[in-house]
This record gives sequence, structure tokens and C-alpha cells, in this order.
Amino acid sequence: MSNKNYSFFQSVEDYFDNAASATKLPKGLLEQIKACNAVYQMRFPVKIGKNYHVIEAYRVQHSHHRLPTKGGIRYAMSVNQDEVMALAALMSYKCAIVDVPFGGAKGGVKIDPRSYEEADLQKITRRYTTELIRKNFIGPGIDVPAPDYGTGPREMAWILDTYTTFKNGEIDAVGCVTGKPVNQNGINGRTEATGRGVYYGIREAMSFEDDMEALGLTTGTQGKTMVVQGLGNVGSYTATISQKEGGMKIIGVAEYEGAIYNPDGIDVEKLLRFRKKTGSIIGFPGTKKLAKREDALELECDVLVPAALEQVITGANANRIKAKIIAEAANGPVTPDAEEILLKKGIMVIPDMYINAGGVTVSYFEWLKNLSHMRFGRLEKRFDQQTYENLVSLVLRLTGKTLSQKEHNFLTRGADEIDLVRSGLEETMITSYRAIRTILKKNRKVTNLRQAAFVCAIEKIGSDYISLGIFP
Ligand code: GLU
Repeated sequence: MSNKNYSFFQSVEDYFDNAASATKLPKGLLEQIKACNAVYQMRFPVKIGKNYHVIEAYRVQHSHHRLPTKGGIRYAMSVNQDEVMALAALMSYKCAIVDVPFGGAKGGVKIDPRSYEEADLQKITRRYTTELIRKNFIGPGIDVPAPDYGTGPREMAWILDTYTTFKNGEIDAVGCVTGKPVNQNGINGRTEATGRGVYYGIREAMSFEDDMEALGLTTGTQGKTMVVQGLGNVGSYTATISQKEGGMKIIGVAEYEGAIYNPDGIDVEKLLRFRKKTGSIIGFPGTKKLAKREDALELECDVLVPAALEQVITGANANRIKAKIIAEAANGPVTPDAEEILLKKGIMVIPDMYINAGGVTVSYFEWLKNLSHMRFGRLEKRFDQQTYENLVSLVLRLTGKTLSQKEHNFLTRGADEIDLVRSGLEETMITSYRAIRTILKKNRKVTNLRQAAFVCAIEKIGSDYISLGIFP
């Protein structure tokens, strides 16, 4: 493949075609899986101060093979139809890989959220939601948005409030959006979910001896070096959890204002506090500023985590990447021509549609919580605790041993919602990685993890269509 300027959707289609040839599905079915089912492009006016701004926005539902459709809403100046289509397609594949029973969707509003007051962002969000309601593009059984780049729990609460205003009395209305604040029918652990999932995925990938040996690495995350590009929600949780729970050394960080480096490791929690106070990562004690923020991508490290926007590793810089593993925490950070170069260099690329699926996985848990109208753990926590108490006291009586209070509490604790969410997420990331890896090892036409992830997704979606009787 030559060095070319890819449209984002085109690069997703290229990846798809490349993997489709390793499946046995008929051409018509593959075309149906690949196509975007519905694209809603809108323009609406919002009064900002004394002026009217005409806002350009989108919602794309890529695949209706399962409903509702699911995917975040992005607020960024880079939003355009091609980008939203690409992101919606990735959502379909992502959901299939992690067995989240939704079709893929994505929304985008072409604004720079930093240049609006909070009250104006609220007006824009409420108007956007109204447009979605008007066209039947939102609802707990239709299409369920969530946060993405430039949005968070605050925007999801505005969406919920707008939706329930119009749908007064709809019993499952709170399931119309996920990523809500915990006190507004959200779920504990959703905010950290994508970053935590990235860590679980990296940990799983690094647990296979043959794979690590091929990269010149030992197994395990302990002491391994990591560079993170983007300290937004995904990047910051990936970095802190990898550091605290995985013992990884974060040696480089890139953000909007520049990039910093410290071969001895950067304390990410302290760095986040420093950035909050000073508005920048530059000048963080013990770190060296790199000439350009893009230079962080080219640092020598074990794991590189692009966690910002798409198409940052291209045919132009792929040759200079020195990481052993790239974990695509962002959606679409590597273009197909770049991937070809990276694979030739022997770099392992853990694809976005698997590694960043933690967000939508926990969104699924939130949606289930909303439909059940009850938090996880409420029924069984005390019962489990009592059962463990009985077991522990039986063992103590039979053995004549004693336990400290701390040991006793540890052994008899019943699960809270956050424990169950993390456990479900960990299980999902481990099982899905193993499924993808098995395809890579067993299907002789599959040569890399992305292709394996696509094959996994295409086969699952394909089997849905076949069992619906739509395709023979
Ligand atoms: N925006 C996130 C993603 O790209 C989460 C989507 C969701 O939770 O629905 O996966």
C-alpha cells in the first residue's frame, strides 16, 4: 500500500475488506455488514449571546442487526460525515467483539467545546437531543448515545433531562443514554471504564510468553515502559491504572500544549493535579520538554498508547515509531499504510475495536441497570457476605486457627456495584482477547490482531443476519 491520504471511513473499509477475505461469508452479506444503514445530517440554530450560530451535527447508525444502536457523541471541530460514519462502523465491530448486543452508532457536533460557556453548551446539547427525538434517532430500544471526545457525564445528564421531558411516563426512559452521572441513573465505574479496559487488554496481551518473546519482551506489565498521547478521560485512566495496578513506568506524555519525558517514570496522578493547577503538563518537575508534541509518539518504549484522535500514526511517521506494542486507546489512530509499516517492523498493534471497548461494555452494564431499575449487588451482597461468614467460621472452628480483623473482612466481603462492574469488564477484556488471539493462531489467512478482530466481528454479525433469515 502506498503512502496516501486516507478518508477515515475509507481506512475502516480497507481494514474490513482485508479481513473479509479471510471469512467464508458471501459477498452480498459482507456488503450489508459494511454499509452504514442510516445517516442523519442536521443543521440547527442556537442563540449564543446576541447572535445565532448555525450548528452542524450528525448521528449515524451503522448497523441495525441488533437494537438499540450504541455509540458516543463527539464535540470537536474535526467532526464531519466521513468521520462519524467511520466511528459508527467501528462501534458495530467493537460491540460484536465484546459481545455487547447492540448495533453501532456515533454522533458528532461540529463545535469546539472550549470556546463556549457552559450554558451555551447546554443549549446546543438540548437542541441536538431534540433533533434526535424528532427523527426517532434516540431511545432506550432505538439508539443510545454516550460520551466520546469532548463530552462527558454533564452532557449525558442534559440529554437525559431533555429526553424525559418529551417522553414523560416512558418507564425505561433513563436507558436512553449512558455515561450519566452516578446520581442520575449512571453506574459506578463508567468514567474509568475505557482506560481500565485498555489496561486489562494490555495486561492480557502481555501474558502470553510466545507473543512477548517474539517482541523481545518478558511477560507481565511490571516495570514495562509506557508512553501516553492524550490525557483526556481515556489516556489519564489508562496511565494511572497501568501505573498503580500494573506497575508500569510512564516515561512520556503528550497533550495539547506539548510533550514531556522522564526515563525514570512520571507520577501520573501528580501530573494530573499539576495540569489542573497550571493548565499545562509542561514544567512538571523532573521532566524534559520535547521539541514537538508529536515527538512523544516516537519515543523508545514497550507500550505506546495513542489516546486522543484518529490518524496520528500515518505513512509519514510510522517508520520512526520505536514502541514494541501499540495499544489503540483512541479510535482509528493508525492508518492502513502505517499499519503495514509497523507490522513489517515487528510491532504488535492491539486494535481499537478491542482495546478501547471497555467504555461501551460498561455502558451496556449501565443500560441493563437502567432497564432493571435497580443497582447491581443490591439483592445478593448481604446474602453472599453471610455465606462467606458461615464458611470462614466453619473453617476456623475445624482448624482451630484465627484471623485478623482485616483478613476476616477481606474474606467475607460481599460485592458492591463497582466490584461487579470491574469484574465484568475484566472478564470481557480477557475473554475477547483470547477469542481474537485464537483466530489469529488458527485461521491461516489471518496475519495480525486487527484482521483477527475484524474476522471475529464480521463472523458474529454475519451469523446474526443468517439466523434472522435475511441471508441464506
Ligand atoms: N465513545 C465510546 C466509544 O467510542 C463509548 C461508547 C458507548 O459507551 O456507547 O467506544
